[in-house]
Amino acid sequence: MTVGIIAIQGAFLEHAHTLEKLGIKTLWVKEPADLKHIDRCIIPGGESTAISKQMCESGLMQALKKRIEEGMPTMGTCAGLVLMAKSVDKDPLITLGVMDIQVKRNAYGRQLGSFSTRASLPLISQNQVELIFIRAPYIQKVEPSVQIIHVHESRIVAVLQNRMFAVAFHPELTEQTCFHEYFLTI
Ligand code: GLN
Repeated sequence: MTVGIIAIQGAFLEHAHTLEKLGIKTLWVKEPADLKHIDRCIIPGGESTAISKQMCESGLMQALKKRIEEGMPTMGTCAGLVLMAKSVDKDPLITLGVMDIQVKRNAYGRQLGSFSTRASLPLISQNQVELIFIRAPYIQKVEPSVQIIHVHESRIVAVLQNRMFAVAFHPELTEQTCFHEYFLTI
């Protein structure tokens, strides 16, 4: 099994390091042809505007959307979550539009933009987990087809829909492997 990691901009190396710890083979995905060789996909955090622009120019946006709609398990973290959303609040960003959620970008304001917290997510781990938010989005609306996995201070920050898992924080920036292990089970 090979996990493709969208390697255009942002925290793609960190996802590869986490998967290496689990003994999972990874492949950088930069253009549509790379998708032929992968079974799962991770869309990392970073700058969603930059990732979107490059994905549109290379044709990866359409090709990846098709693979995800055909059922390829996919995990999006932070900007990756934004890119999976059907709609982005007050923002013309072009996204994959695969998840029935509306997100708000840079949603915590400048002062509270980056923080870390510990939380209990029984689906992911029996122990408390560390959640790192960096200029994070949150999810404003979900359709009934979407399962809410975690809410932080009344804001939805982790969701699952079919084989799509998206979180507003950065599990790849911690020592934990539990989020990636969970992703490998969906
Ligand atoms: N605010 C960024 C965006 O919407 C996401 C930040 C991140 O991925 N850490 O592009």
